[in-house]
Amino acid sequence: MPAPSSFPILSNPRQSSGAHPHEDFSRGRELEAKLRSVVRGEVRFDRASRALYAVDASSYRQLPIGVVAPRDVADVEAAIGACRELEAPVLSRGGGTSLAGQCCNVAVVLDFSKYMHGIVELDPERRFARVQPGVVLDALRSAAERHGLTFAPDPATHSRCTLGGMIGNNSCGVHALMGGKTVDNIESLEILLYDGVRMTVGPTPEEELRSIIAAGGRRGEIYAGLRRIRDAWADLIRTRFPRIPRRVSGYNLDELLPENGFNVARALVGTEGTCVTVLEARCALKHSPQHRRLVLLGFADPFIAADHVPAVLEHGPIGLEGFDGLLVDYMRKKRLAAGSCSASSARIPPPMPTPKRMNSNGRPAECRSQPRCAAARKARPGASGGCANPAWAPRSSSPACPMPGRDGRTRRFPPNAWAPICGSFIG
Ligand SMILES: Cc1cc2nc3c(=O)[nH]c(=O)nc-3n(C[C@H](O)[C@H](O)[C@H](O)COP(=O)(O)OP(=O)(O)OC[C@H]3O[C@@H](n4cnc5c(N)ncnc54)[C@H](O)[C@@H]3O)c2cc1C
Repeated sequence: MPAPSSFPILSNPRQSSGAHPHEDFSRGRELEAKLRSVVRGEVRFDRASRALYAVDASSYRQLPIGVVAPRDVADVEAAIGACRELEAPVLSRGGGTSLAGQCCNVAVVLDFSKYMHGIVELDPERRFARVQPGVVLDALRSAAERHGLTFAPDPATHSRCTLGGMIGNNSCGVHALMGGKTVDNIESLEILLYDGVRMTVGPTPEEELRSIIAAGGRRGEIYAGLRRIRDAWADLIRTRFPRIPRRVSGYNLDELLPENGFNVARALVGTEGTCVTVLEARCALKHSPQHRRLVLLGFADPFIAADHVPAVLEHGPIGLEGFDGLLVDYMRKKRLAAGSCSASSARIPPPMPTPKRMNSNGRPAECRSQPRCAAARKARPGASGGCANPAWAPRSSSPACPMPGRDGRTRRFPPNAWAPICGSFIG
């Protein structure tokens, strides 16, 4: 039996078809009329709009009940109020670049990207920005970059994804290495609940927590519930939550632990719109290094590349990303790799073979790619280092890598992390 809920839609039993009641929502016309009467922004229930919003970047497809593009916070409150009245589920949406179906459902989709995409405030001194949820990451980064600052997490979709969506998914990106995940960069959130309650949430010192609970009301009830969760599960959360830098799945209950300041805003990061609608976010901005160097390292397979990650990390890079050689092959095929390069930028050279494993003497344990080895030998005769594969040089002749260390001095790349440096350029 499902737990009793104050929202009928959550307590209704499943239909005989097996569908959850929200999937059989039948009051679409009534809801559309209601929304049109209370929302100033766009209300779109036509088939084409619903088809457009039936997908995100995943393989899932769910036809929404309708779409609302709110103009402001009052519109969001009005839209959610109308949905609540008619028991319609809601789903927030930013750029819709989610990969696991987070942005498609039988619900009223609230698209924040069309109108609610402003930067409310940017304070370079105190290094924070207040943004509306629909702001595209690159718009925030461009504004921050004028002050030598940046919002550190940067998914590959940075030119499309929104801060609301990044908060929903707890997004990372190449530079999360420098500045952490989205959860590490959110200071507070302005949120709206389905029942119409609006709150500002963030870290909550113990004394404040006690007074919020004592004040009662819906807010007190929610905080009391969160404290109960924390107290009941704190030890298990401490021992069982995996300590990996890119843990982005599941609810961030660890943010409610006393040592993390009972941070309700950060506990909501990664909830994929299932708990609240984010109306505004205060985000931390980090120093953006102005002089950068890119080093490309080629490996025979992802496992060998992964073996070398610790050695790369010793040099304190601000970003680290792996990508498949197939991508380069396709770029080459489409003449995207070399054709558009200027004289100052490096061309992407042909892939080089890499050893599978290093022996203790620094020599490769096994040669994996004979045809490629032959090609490489032709290109660099005499560089075999005791192996048939010329790319597998002994430690003494490992190539110098122009990667600066944390102290700014250029170091040779560690010999046991030998890899062909495909190219490097200053960008
Ligand atoms: C090619 C490709 C590459 C990618 N690379 C990366 C990567 O490098 N790193 C990475 O982390 N991710 C990556 N992603 C996944 C995705 O792009 C990111 O998670 C991105 O930050 C999502 O932003 P969005 O605006 O598109 O969010 P959406 O997909 O629109 O929404 C994401 C979630 O947030 C919720 N949400 C949106 N707005 C609000 C709001 N106002 N209030 C409450 N909840 C809200 C939604 O309901 C949904 O659950 C990639 C995706 C693709 C297609």
